[in-house]
Amino acid sequence: MRHLARLLTLLFVSFYSYSNVGAEEPKLQPIPDRLVVLTFDDANKSDRTFVADILKKHGFGATFYVSEGLGFLKNKQHYTTWDEIRELHEMGFEIGNHTQHHRSVTSINGEQLKESVRHIEKRCQENNIPVPVTFCYPGFGHNAEAVKALDESGFLFARRGVRPEWQDNGEGSRGPAYDPQVDHPLLIPSTGYDGPDWKLDDLKWAVDQARDGKIAVLCFHGVPALDHPWVNTDPKDFEIYMQYLKDKQCTVIALRDLVKYVDPQQRPADPYAPIRQRIESKKRSSE
Ligand SMILES: [Zn+2]
Repeated sequence: MRHLARLLTLLFVSFYSYSNVGAEEPKLQPIPDRLVVLTFDDANKSDRTFVADILKKHGFGATFYVSEGLGFLKNKQHYTTWDEIRELHEMGFEIGNHTQHHRSVTSINGEQLKESVRHIEKRCQENNIPVPVTFCYPGFGHNAEAVKALDESGFLFARRGVRPEWQDNGEGSRGPAYDPQVDHPLLIPSTGYDGPDWKLDDLKWAVDQARDGKIAVLCFHGVPALDHPWVNTDPKDFEIYMQYLKDKQCTVIALRDLVKYVDPQQRPADPYAPIRQRIESKKRSSE
């Protein structure tokens, strides 16, 4: 059943990517300037009670990354229920995989990671939600073993945080724009994640990076993040941010929608080579 669901998803993705049968090259749309990917981690209650309606109002796509870790199983005041997650799917949003336990992939091995993502796949199927095709690294930790495990698990795209190219004090930060010509699709950086150190100017900066084939990938948590003040977004600020994206006529999508613009099979042989190169060129430009 799991494999069937995955096959159907891939057929759907193929349908998206190929304009006509027999074409040798995937027909991808050109990446527009101000292409913005919106992601929301941890299944905070506000995903359903606040964020979804604002996104709908603006016609924005987005991905909600679900984990049963953190307070999900205990605290239904602060976290969504599976019924609410299914509603988000039915509203047209993407449900992404954020693992069963929310353990950093750096503290488990590849097999444990596969098991942890399978649990979320199973829970999605039980709730009539498609098996997720994108992944988000819990706590932003990543490594080569995890990239391999995610690839073997069939994920198309995975989003990390801003490290190691950018410094991160853990309370919101700017990060690299995603460059599909360069970055591995299972190590997509966050161009910004919200917290006390990230403000409207940082959002404007991120949107400015989204040009010449680069994409701004934004990461939010709760609006507000009741359990995690270091990644909090104030609801009033959030409305201002979304209005800014609307006013700038950004194209705002879920991570899975990247298949319209990006071939996830086109990737560097060494997933970490682009990251090392970015660190090197940052170092050179600051000298
Ligand atoms: Zn998380």
